[in-house]
Amino acid sequence: MNYPEACEHCDYVLVGEGEESILELMSALTNDSPVDEVKGVAFRRGDEIVCTGQRCPPANIDIIPNRDLLYRYQKMAGHNTVWAQVHASRGCPHNCDYCALVRHFGRKVRKRSPQNIVDDIRYSIDFHDRHHHRLAKMLWLTDDNFFADRELAIEVLRAIIDSDIHYHFTIQARYEVGYDDEMLELLRQAGFDEVAMGIEFLEDEAFENYHKKSTYRDIVRSVENIQRHGLRVRGLFIVGADNHEKGVGDRLADFVIEHNISGVLIQSMYFVPGTPVYETHKDKLIHRDWSKYNGNVVHYPERISPYDLQKEIIHASRKIYSRRRLLQAILHKRGLERLLFVGEYFWHKSVRADLKADLPYLKRVTEESALYQG
Ligand code: SF4
Repeated sequence: MNYPEACEHCDYVLVGEGEESILELMSALTNDSPVDEVKGVAFRRGDEIVCTGQRCPPANIDIIPNRDLLYRYQKMAGHNTVWAQVHASRGCPHNCDYCALVRHFGRKVRKRSPQNIVDDIRYSIDFHDRHHHRLAKMLWLTDDNFFADRELAIEVLRAIIDSDIHYHFTIQARYEVGYDDEMLELLRQAGFDEVAMGIEFLEDEAFENYHKKSTYRDIVRSVENIQRHGLRVRGLFIVGADNHEKGVGDRLADFVIEHNISGVLIQSMYFVPGTPVYETHKDKLIHRDWSKYNGNVVHYPERISPYDLQKEIIHASRKIYSRRRLLQAILHKRGLERLLFVGEYFWHKSVRADLKADLPYLKRVTEESALYQG
């Protein structure tokens, strides 16, 4: 989505989905034939950036390659890898303003065949467990919206249930899955312990502003029904929306505690080139040092300063992962749930240390901006 900048750092950039382009690119380079004729590639030629155009994304994504082919992937997938991963489909029919996925993969859902997905789950488990003793043996179905194709989801879950795979799974989902009792029952039977829900905001105003089709009531109803089926809910949140003010972190933490959300990821709003929100908000970016787009505040929010917003994130994390709640988790949670909370307690502690390190910079940015004077 940002190939001109990527071209500053490497010889060739694959634009879009690269599985087919890379084969043709390798063949062109090996045979000394012109790279211009390979669709889906960008590169520098003197002072200009050449892009050979967009290639149609592959319709058959059963072609996702063998993990053993990835350079040093086996080494990276060591003891500390919490989640083995499998990706089952691409694309999402929704159109949330800030979402880069839907701009990358498109709105038409393309899916692997159920058998191919189940084979890959088996292979991924073997790949991750083959050489390493991992404390937490879990697999994450990484699709942003696996339930976009209900029929596929049901077929895959039934195939896992009928197979010899006995593992712990997690999955990402929109809130609608929480209304689907049949799906929730199948998830439980297949070994899924939790649903990681893209809750994003707690205010209907924010859902409307960014064209995320949900409401606060939808979220609460969904969370409660998922929990009734014996599954945990993990919450993925965004702060720094145009309507967010001081107190946003505290409200988020209270919601998490009150609704027994098992773990959180809190992301400060950012704008990816190519998304609608980038077009409307790009002037509000503080900088384009992408290495800092890892949770830090990177924009000038409307109703709260960058410095105060960063403090809100730190506060929410500290309240959710407090020593008191750690002790409660150790005493009252069991098995994986306890292990995950303890692991996340320390992970959040290190995230907070990174966020704190950026506070002096964000204070300076806030003081220098006319937006927050008076
Ligand atoms: S529902 Fe999720 S994956 Fe789909 S467009 Fe919205 S944020 Fe992106």
